[in-house]
Amino acid sequence: MSRRSRPAPPDPEPLSPLIDAHTHLAACGGRDPESVRAILDHAQRVGVEAVVTVADDMVDARWAVSAADWDDRAYAAVALHPTHAAELDDAAKSELEQMLTHPRVVAVGETGLDWYWLDRSADCATREQQIEAFRWHIDLSKRIGKPLMIHNRDADRDLLDVLADEGAPETVIMHCFSGDAGIARECVDRGYHLSFSGTVTFANATALQAAALVVPDEQILVETDAPFLTAHPFRGHPNQSYCLPYTARRLAELRSTDAESFGRIVTSNARHVYRLALPN
Ligand SMILES: [Zn+2]
Ligand SMILES: [Zn+2]
Repeated sequence: MSRRSRPAPPDPEPLSPLIDAHTHLAACGGRDPESVRAILDHAQRVGVEAVVTVADDMVDARWAVSAADWDDRAYAAVALHPTHAAELDDAAKSELEQMLTHPRVVAVGETGLDWYWLDRSADCATREQQIEAFRWHIDLSKRIGKPLMIHNRDADRDLLDVLADEGAPETVIMHCFSGDAGIARECVDRGYHLSFSGTVTFANATALQAAALVVPDEQILVETDAPFLTAHPFRGHPNQSYCLPYTARRLAELRSTDAESFGRIVTSNARHVYRLALPN
């Protein structure tokens, strides 16, 4: 059964406040101000007060900036996804730079390396194109002074090496962190923020759950990466930002803390790393 044909998960027990550190509102059904408002109203009913909507390509990037203008609970991150790295021509570069001057565009992302799709999709950018585009986005993040939001799929070592070689910006967010405890420790030691999605709740995610214990309070974030990666026990069902409390509660449990304190910690971290203009 496809994701679309399965029912949406029920509302989780509310947890307030939370911020979805990485989602894709357009892929969740966001089209216009009304549909975006409906998604964010639903999220807010369970305590998710704001989201960062992330672009994959240029069309998506323009849309994400609009969404951030439509609703004050939405912020945007723009970049070319590593699988789209071949599209990073001069026009795309100058447009991304221009977008990043917008105060509601809070991060350069998602960028990074994706080795998973290299041999699986004919459209996927090559290894060389991805590395070159990743380097450009790293440099952009430093020049513009906004955080770098990283996508990493099956590329742990290469990704950390390119980042070290290029010189990391002040704030690095490892979105949908997928490494083991060793990689987590290396990222923590480098001062990066690790953002956990629903994958950390999966029954077979023991290595990732061990990684989540390595991260100090100051460096942890939560995200949905919706519409993908819905938390257990709704894996394979459509995901949206309102599902974030499922992951936050499970992470709190893994870290032997109460959900309310954990929610306050990750929310304060998200406000800090993205410099969100929200009331405290
Ligand atoms: Zn990603
Ligand atoms: Zn994503």
